[in-house]
Formats: sequence, C-alpha cells, structure tokens
Amino acid sequence: MIDAKRGTAVVLIVLLSVGLFSCAKRVETPKEPEITMVIHGGAGTILKENMTPERERAYTEKLTEALQMGLEILKNDGSSLDAVEAAIRVLEDSPLFNAGKGAVFTAQGKNELDASIMDGTTLNAGAVASVTTIKNPISAARAVMEDSKHVLLVGRGAELFAAGQGLDIVDPEYFFEQTRWDQLLKIKESEQSSLERSGAIQMRFGTVGALALDRKGNLAAGTSTGGLTNKRHGRVGDSPIVGAGTYANNATCAVSGTGQGEYFMRNLVAYDVSALMEYQGMNLDDAVEKVIQEKLTELGGLGGVIALDKFGNVAMSFNTEGMYRGWIKEDGEAQVLLYGDEDE
Ligand code: ASP
Repeated sequence: MIDAKRGTAVVLIVLLSVGLFSCAKRVETPKEPEITMVIHGGAGTILKENMTPERERAYTEKLTEALQMGLEILKNDGSSLDAVEAAIRVLEDSPLFNAGKGAVFTAQGKNELDASIMDGTTLNAGAVASVTTIKNPISAARAVMEDSKHVLLVGRGAELFAAGQGLDIVDPEYFFEQTRWDQLLKIKESEQSSLERSGAIQMRFGTVGALALDRKGNLAAGTSTGGLTNKRHGRVGDSPIVGAGTYANNATCAVSGTGQGEYFMRNLVAYDVSALMEYQGMNLDDAVEKVIQEKLTELGGLGGVIALDKFGNVAMSFNTEGMYRGWIKEDGEAQVLLYGDEDE
C-alpha cells in the first residue's frame, strides 16, 4: 500500500517535471533563424541547347563555391553582411559573370562597374557606380556604407575613396575578357543595343547578387555588375541603386535583381517586393511573383530577382529563359539551377 502510494508520487513528480521541462523548453529556447545563403549570376537567354556540359559544370561549380563561401561564414556565426560580400567577391573574381573580372564593355570599349550592399538590420546601404579600377566593387560599396557618410559614390571619387580604404586597385586592363569583347563587336555589328529586345542578340544579364540570413536573424543583400553590353559611357543601371536592384530589411526580406536595369529603376523592383510584404502583408513568394510575373512583365521589362525572408524562406522568379541561381542552408547541400524549366 505504502509502496503503491510512493510509486504514484514518483510517477506524478516525473510527469510534472517532464511537463515543466517541455514548457520551459518552449518558452526559453527561441528557434534559431535558419541560416541561409541565396545567390544569382544573372538572367537571360540561358538555354540547355546553347550550353556545353563543360560550361554547365563551370557555372555550377562557381555558384556552389560562392554559396559555400557564404555558408562557412554564417556557420561560424559571421554576419549576413560578411557572407554577402564574400560570396559576391567569388563571383566578381570569376570571368564567367558580368561583374568584376568578366564585366561587359561599354560602347566605347571600357568596363564601368556598379555595386551596392544593404544591411537589413540598420537599413544602411552603400554603393559605387561607374568605377573602372576597383577590383571588387562590392567591397567598395561596403566601405562606402561603413566608412563614409554617404550612400553612393561614383567614378573617380569612388576610386580615390576605395584606394584610401586600402582596397585592391587594378589597371583597367585587368577587366579585359576576350569573350566580352567579342560580344560587344557582335552587338555593334548588328547595330543593336542590348537595351532593346532583339531576336538576333541573345539577352544575357550576368550581374551577380547574394542574400544572407545569419544566426542573429539579420538579413543582408548585395549586387554587383558591369551593366549592359554596349551601354553608353556613364550609364548607371539598377544594381547600385538601393531599392531598384538591391534591398534588405529584417522586417520583410532581402532582394537582389538582374535584368534590364532601366525597368528595375523606374519600378523600384527590389523595394516593391519588400513594400508588398510590409504594407499588404503578402508572403515572400506572392510578393516576388507579383512584382516579376505581373508588374515587370506587363511593363515589358526582362529579368528576375532572388529573395529571402527572415524565416529563411527563399523565392526566385524571372521572365527570361533562365537565371543562374542557387541557395544553401546549414546542411551544406548546395542547390544550383540554371534553366527555366527546372524545379525549385
Ligand atoms: N541589371 C543590370 C543593369 O542593368 C544588368 C544585369 O542584370 O546584368 O545594369
């Protein structure tokens, strides 16, 4: 009898403490944000039939390397800004993409680079435009954000600032890539600007972008580009324009775009995604679909965006044949896609 009572008491105590423990666990251990990296390497006429297996592999490998570079930083409790900058530097240093080494040529045969970065925690942002000697424009954009009172520096002023910050400065020749030069000649031959829709010219927007969510739940976004082939000297696109090509806000999402910059600028594409979430309570997927598949498409603009929200949800949308894109989470399994008909 006594033993039975004692047994009941023990069971009760065990049940109670399990109950308390599970309560305590729910209340005291908030779910950690799901660290996530998302990148793009440009949208456009990216079709399987135009690709060789070697090129396919080269793009996949470089995008994977950039994702892993960012993830490593996030795994070590690094910030989303560090992850975005590091991932973009990998793509800027590769001739495969239209950013940094591999940037396209202006009509005058020069490379003029643009980049921006935004911190979703503080809503601070930094950008550079029309620079010709900064090896990694994304790092210069970050320096503008963190070490100047300004948001956007252009041309010579941006280059002097970057040099003063100890960033790598190169001879403009560094950016020369034969394939990009040939693309310029081809466009010139056909007397078409890639600003126009053209059946003859393949539309390729090789701009790069990265988004990250770190363990603290902070979002960041960055974009870097050489702009459009055959652009006018001095033309600046959406990539260094906060709200057009890049946007990040912890309360909503991080966004980076690629495509016909003039359309992205006039319609503040990146900010529009965030605004639909903020003011209309839309979820990430719906906001991205509305902005790209409805608004941008109805206006006749070509391109796409990648987006990431504070929960680690990823959305990607484009109205071109393909978009180099990928994402990675804690498990380290990089997902990289190139074409339009691949499932996400
Ligand atoms: N959006 C870029 C620009 O217009 C081009 C690109 O996405 O490749 O400068």
